[in-house]
Amino acid sequence: MAAQPMTGPWTLRMPAAMAATLREHLFPGDGDEHGAVIGASVVTTPRGTRLLARRLYLAKDGTDYVAGQRGYRMLTATFVGDRVRDCRSQGLAYLAVHCHGGSTRVSFSRTDLASHERGYPALRDILGTTPAGGLVFAADAVAGDLWLPDGARAELDRAVITGWPITTLYSEPPTPPTSDLTYDRQSRVFGDRGQAILAGQKVAVIGAGGAGSLIVEYLSRLGVGELVIVDPDRVERTNLPRLVGARARDAHVWMTEPSKPQWLQTLGRRWATPKVKVARRLARQANQRIRVHALQADVTQTAIAASLVDCDYIFLAADSMQARLVVNALIHQYLISGVQVGAKVQVGPGGAVTDVFSVVRPVAPGFGCLWCNELISPARLQEEALTAEQLRQQRYVEDDAVHAPSVISLNAVAAAHAVDDYLHTVTGLLPTAYEPRWRRFHPLAPTALQRVRCDIPRASAGCTECSGTGRLGQGNGTPLPTR
Ligand SMILES: [Zn+2]
Ligand SMILES: [Zn+2]
Repeated sequence: MAAQPMTGPWTLRMPAAMAATLREHLFPGDGDEHGAVIGASVVTTPRGTRLLARRLYLAKDGTDYVAGQRGYRMLTATFVGDRVRDCRSQGLAYLAVHCHGGSTRVSFSRTDLASHERGYPALRDILGTTPAGGLVFAADAVAGDLWLPDGARAELDRAVITGWPITTLYSEPPTPPTSDLTYDRQSRVFGDRGQAILAGQKVAVIGAGGAGSLIVEYLSRLGVGELVIVDPDRVERTNLPRLVGARARDAHVWMTEPSKPQWLQTLGRRWATPKVKVARRLARQANQRIRVHALQADVTQTAIAASLVDCDYIFLAADSMQARLVVNALIHQYLISGVQVGAKVQVGPGGAVTDVFSVVRPVAPGFGCLWCNELISPARLQEEALTAEQLRQQRYVEDDAVHAPSVISLNAVAAAHAVDDYLHTVTGLLPTAYEPRWRRFHPLAPTALQRVRCDIPRASAGCTECSGTGRLGQGNGTPLPTR
């Protein structure tokens, strides 16, 4: 792939655990200045360039961070040299970090800027293809001065901490947005600022079936600015009881009556409306200004997955192991929060319903992943890799996924909880000590306590998919597990 020019706005994205470590290091309560270096993957997208914090190097006070010759404190030449070489060998941008006092406003001092001018051109030359720069943090603010490989210089627009809640730091409080009467009732919940955040978001919905269509309905009504909807399938008549926005003529119901000739039924199915087009129509009914990318394709295709790297959130409502593998990788590799939703009706040998549940699994970078928690079955991955012909030969045509029992309200439980989580985390309503939980709703369980089950996702230390030695923050540094 040809290198795209690095264009703004420039955003730093950082997993919550790294941000917490950095915060403790910079603000231990002594009111003094401390230093560190962040190595960040650089991802250029149509929505600007993202710096994905992958490595954090804390500078030891007195050893690596010492009294300055011109400024108050400085990183030693050895510390800087070692980290720049680390960053260069891993293809990362080099960002020197220090702190100032204050809370929601921060800027570089004149001494800081003079030291950038003395130091960063040389560091940029060593790095070659990635920027060098500086970040200065206050308790709730960050400013950044970036020196780009092409000789240009750019300011950091904001930093996004991808935890629960998702928090955004600016160099100064952003100007208050104007209120929009349409959203008056919900602005009273999360403010004009919250509403403006939603309008600025690009959200992906993978799977535009039962759960996905509900999620599209909710997100577009809420005022999310841009949606990417991915689904390869067309509407079938058996989808109508669950597919929000679908009409009988989308499925060509009259052509697909069992009494009609086979060729007419086939034609009816072939001409049926793609699910993503139904979803796009639904979204535009809710909000005329919404931007919708309706992709009739599979998320496991390389180009489709690549178009999602600049999303702010990903809803996974497609039930294939391949889709789980790819979305799980996107979340960790590109530091994008997301959620997996589903609903299932389990049926015993005689056709009797044995269990019914809806599930919501929020996944954020560094909080455990679908792979660590054994929710991606290697055996089923292999099965899915077979072609339709091979599947037929192995008599998988009657695969339970095809005729799985399903009901709209079960999807609605999962979809509503997932959108609730999203809404609260991006608009800043969640408490800062919020603990994400995976939830399963069992409406038929005999006791109230058994009807909602919570799991704490595990995060395995050396996980190839979600740890710092694996995909976490790697950006374009490693390929996605697509086909
Ligand atoms: Zn300073
Ligand atoms: Zn993992």
